[in-house]
Amino acid sequence: MSQTISESRIRNLKESLELSKISFRSEVRLSVLSSFKIGGICPLIVEPENTEQVLEVISIFKKSELPWKILGGGSNLLISDHPDNFVTLRLSGTFKKFDSFEEGRFRIGAATNTTPTFRQISQAGFRGVEFLSTIPGWTGGAVIQNAGCYGGELFDLIQTVEFLRNDEVLIKKPNEIEHGYRFTEFLNRKDSIILGIEILLEKGNLEEIEESLKDKRERRNSSQPENKKSAGSVFKNPKILKEDGKEIKAWELIDRAGLRGAFKGGAQISPEHCNFIVNVGAATASDVNYLVELVLDKVFQQSGILLKREIEYFGDIP
Ligand SMILES: Cc1cc2nc3c(=O)[nH]c(=O)nc-3n(C[C@H](O)[C@H](O)[C@H](O)COP(=O)(O)OP(=O)(O)OC[C@H]3O[C@@H](n4cnc5c(N)ncnc54)[C@H](O)[C@@H]3O)c2cc1C
Repeated sequence: MSQTISESRIRNLKESLELSKISFRSEVRLSVLSSFKIGGICPLIVEPENTEQVLEVISIFKKSELPWKILGGGSNLLISDHPDNFVTLRLSGTFKKFDSFEEGRFRIGAATNTTPTFRQISQAGFRGVEFLSTIPGWTGGAVIQNAGCYGGELFDLIQTVEFLRNDEVLIKKPNEIEHGYRFTEFLNRKDSIILGIEILLEKGNLEEIEESLKDKRERRNSSQPENKKSAGSVFKNPKILKEDGKEIKAWELIDRAGLRGAFKGGAQISPEHCNFIVNVGAATASDVNYLVELVLDKVFQQSGILLKREIEYFGDIP
C-alpha cells in the first residue's frame, strides 16, 4: 500500500490549482459519491470544467508527481475506506452537458448522468437508447466498461469516443477501440480520460419507445433489489453454456455455492439477486471485499469456474 499524501504536497497542489482557477474540494468523504455508500475521506477532489482545464490538471499532477484516479458516478466501484494515498479527478462544467447537432446526432459529455440523459433522448422520439436509461452512473463510466443490459450495449450506438491520452485529445470510432462484453481497452490501460461520445440515432414511434422504457424499468425493478446501496452486478457472467444450451449466469453459480444472503459486517449477498452485494448497515470496503473473496473461492470449489469481478476497486482495499 502506498503512503498517505503529505499535507505539504496537498497544499502545493491547491496553490497550483488556485493559480490556474481550477475548482477543487478538500477532505471529501467519497461514500457520498458512491452508489454503495462506502468510501473514506479523500484529501482532494479536482473538478476541471473543460478540456483545457483537464490538460492543465494533468500537467499539474505530473509536475507534482501525485497519484490520481478518475471518478464518475461511482456506481461500479468499491471505494477504499482510506482513499488518502491519491487525489481524485471528477469532470464537471461542460462535461455535464449533451447537445444535439443535426437530426439524431448527439454529443454527450462524459459527466452526464446516464439515466436522465438517455430518458430525455428517448422521450424526444429517438429509439435504441431505452436500455441505457436504466443504468446508473455517468456516460464516461459507461464507456469505460461498455455498459449494457437487455441485449444492448453502449458501443452498439457510439459513432465516436473523444478522449485524452498522452496529453493528446483523440477521437476514435468503435472499430478502432478494443471492446467486448463489459470490457474496453480503457479498462486495462488506465491512461485515458473519456471526454464525451457522439451517437447517431433514428427516430422511432413515440408510443413504442415509451412502452420500451416502461418495459425495461419494470424488468429492472422486478429482478434487482430496489433502493438498496450496491454497485450492481459484482461479477461478470462467465459466458459458459449449460447442458440446455443457455448461458450460465453468475448469480446461479453463487446461489449453487450456497451463498445467497451471506453476511459480513454491514454487507450482504442480496437474497433477491445474489450477484448483488448490498450495504445493509454501515458496511466497509473490507466487508464487501470479504464477500467477494468468499464468492470467488466457494464458486470455484463448487463449479470449477473462476468468476471475474465486474466492479472495480478504487484505492487499496485490505
Ligand atoms: C443498481 C445498479 C445497477 C446496475 N446495472 C448495470 C447494468 O445493467 N449494466 C451495466 O453495464 N452496468 C450496471 N451497473 C454498473 C454501473 O452503473 C455502470 O458500470 C456505469 O456505467 C458506471 O458508470 P460510473 O460513472 O458510475 O463509473 P464509476 O463507477 O465512477 O467508474 C467506473 C470506472 O470508470 C472510470 N471512469 C469513470 N469516468 C471516467 C472518465 N471520464 N474517463 C476515464 N475513466 C473514467 C473509473 O476510474 C472507474 O475505473 C449498475 C450499477 C448499479 C448501482
